[in-house]
Amino acid sequence: MAIDFSDICYLKNPDSITLKADYTQFLLSLCGPTVIDITHEDSEQWYVITTLLHGNEPSGFIALHQWLIQEERPQNVNLRFIICSVEAAQYQPIFSQRFLPGGEDINRCFNSEKQTNYNQRAHLIEDAIKEVSPVLVVDMHNTSGSSPAFCVSAHMNKQHLKLASFFCDNLILSHISLGALMEITIDCPVITLECGGCTDIQANKVAYEAITTLALGVDINNSHKQTIKVIHHPMRLVLAEDIDVSFSLEDQGEDGVTIIENIEQFNYGLCHAGQILGWSDNEGLSNLKLLDEYKNNVIDDYFYFEDNRLIAACDFQIFMATKQRYIAQSDCLFYITA
Ligand SMILES: [Zn+2]
Repeated sequence: MAIDFSDICYLKNPDSITLKADYTQFLLSLCGPTVIDITHEDSEQWYVITTLLHGNEPSGFIALHQWLIQEERPQNVNLRFIICSVEAAQYQPIFSQRFLPGGEDINRCFNSEKQTNYNQRAHLIEDAIKEVSPVLVVDMHNTSGSSPAFCVSAHMNKQHLKLASFFCDNLILSHISLGALMEITIDCPVITLECGGCTDIQANKVAYEAITTLALGVDINNSHKQTIKVIHHPMRLVLAEDIDVSFSLEDQGEDGVTIIENIEQFNYGLCHAGQILGWSDNEGLSNLKLLDEYKNNVIDDYFYFEDNRLIAACDFQIFMATKQRYIAQSDCLFYITA
């Protein structure tokens, strides 16, 4: 399938025929990145909700389809939905690919001077967001592993906090620049909503409730739905170059790094000092890098290596842990905050 990276489709107030009978048929009917505008004739205000930047993170899309077929209309606001990596999501079996084989992770292609196809598409999406001068942007994802919902933001002011508080209890403030959509320069709050893992039953519900909440209109200047905990200074645990990772409940004596198989459980609670998180070959901690916001490797401050075991050196919180080997290898194993 040849992909047109210079095009984006537009739908305005689509009818039930366009929306098809279910979200699978609707997904398969799309021809590429698609903007769906649901308008409100008495309002000039726009909210933008993006989803499916990652083709294997369907909760936002499923929730959007569910919301659209009920023919709900927003109150006092116009909604612009942008369905991004349609081709990756359509690749069979559907919702199995973060990005197309041989392609790039588009959520690493924003704010970049590079001229690849995926950078071009990131620009198109950014332009489609800015076209309506929105008052807020919410980018919906699923975590790679099972996880409670949380928000992530590259900036923080009262509006970011209030916006996130409509959806979850935790906001991670991340200054790590990766080229993610939430890093774009725009004069309104942009947050990422991680709805939970795509196999977690609650994730579609989180996404659906986020859409219904936004459709009712949120006042991010005055209302504050619930208290929100801000988590600062996340650090990314990545493999050193050319190091393999596997997952197991015990040390199998593999080369590279073995991460404890139940690592996703740590997305739900604190990891205490002394916890064994995996095993390493004789290269020990040099098989891993823990990168702070300045891309310094601070692995020795948070982990130690003893009898081939990788052990937490202090209490910290783990999030976005996944046992999907491909993500662990190509993106990161997990994030921690102390
Ligand atoms: Zn994602």
